[in-house]
Amino acid sequence: MQVVETIAEMKRVRKELTGPVGFVATMGFFHEGHLSLVRKARARNPSVAVSIFVNPAQFGPAEDFDTYPRDLPRDLSLLEKERADVVFMPSVAEMYPPGFDSWVDIASVTDRLEGASRPGHFRGVATVVNKLFNIIRPDVSYFGQKDAQQVLVVRKMVQELKMGLEIVALPTVREDDGLAVSSRNAYLNPEERKAATILHRSLCLAEELWEKGEKDAGSIRQQMRELIQKEPLARIDYVSIADPETLEEMDEVRTPALASLAVWTGRTRLIDNVVVE
Ligand code: AMP
Repeated sequence: MQVVETIAEMKRVRKELTGPVGFVATMGFFHEGHLSLVRKARARNPSVAVSIFVNPAQFGPAEDFDTYPRDLPRDLSLLEKERADVVFMPSVAEMYPPGFDSWVDIASVTDRLEGASRPGHFRGVATVVNKLFNIIRPDVSYFGQKDAQQVLVVRKMVQELKMGLEIVALPTVREDDGLAVSSRNAYLNPEERKAATILHRSLCLAEELWEKGEKDAGSIRQQMRELIQKEPLARIDYVSIADPETLEEMDEVRTPALASLAVWTGRTRLIDNVVVE
């Protein structure tokens, strides 16, 4: 496995890779969610590139960029085991040199949900993903459905800007009790970790209500809220039942519908979603 730290070196290494090249963009601190993407890339492509870059541009000023968990030696050894060919870990200074002014803004779908709660987040995501695609030139890139809105934003960018690569979304990997695995789960103390299952439980409630014939999206959102409010350590940011393409909130549930939520558990903000089919 080649470990590459500069853009020039990455471009040189890229020329030697046999295509198609499968690519996974990450911020590191690997868990089974990341590894599921790397495994799929490995199973389907002659070459696999993975990036590790904690992207400052997608964090708000009051967010956790400085404390975001990092463990590079462990990440590299896991990637080695998964037989990645290249890991690209550029510096912030090279990705955002002084005077950097070229931002990628995807409108509309970024106004809602995560975009509304985290202004500028998707501008940072779209910009860094665009830049990583330009440097690595993958044929296909794998993303987690855990970040459903991110998948939507990246797909829209790739389609509308005719970037000519395939975007594949893969299912959310969960712990045994349903909690979606996430690097940020490392912030949770044991009580918060227990309370954090409320995200998945409330999504299960939404599915159950839908299966029982509840069509009123407002009522489903309300019942999800009431369930979450019973958990003293949890604080709701948003609860949504929306169109999976436009992210517009639904009045009456049509399928498919994206049920998604962001909930603070103590000082940790967690997100999760399911597509109700
Ligand atoms: P991150 O390092 O958090 O930027 O995530 C890198 C990639 O892993 C993104 O495409 C995420 O959507 C994906 N990912 C994160 N958590 C999960 C999960 N629990 N299941 C599947 N994919 C995930």
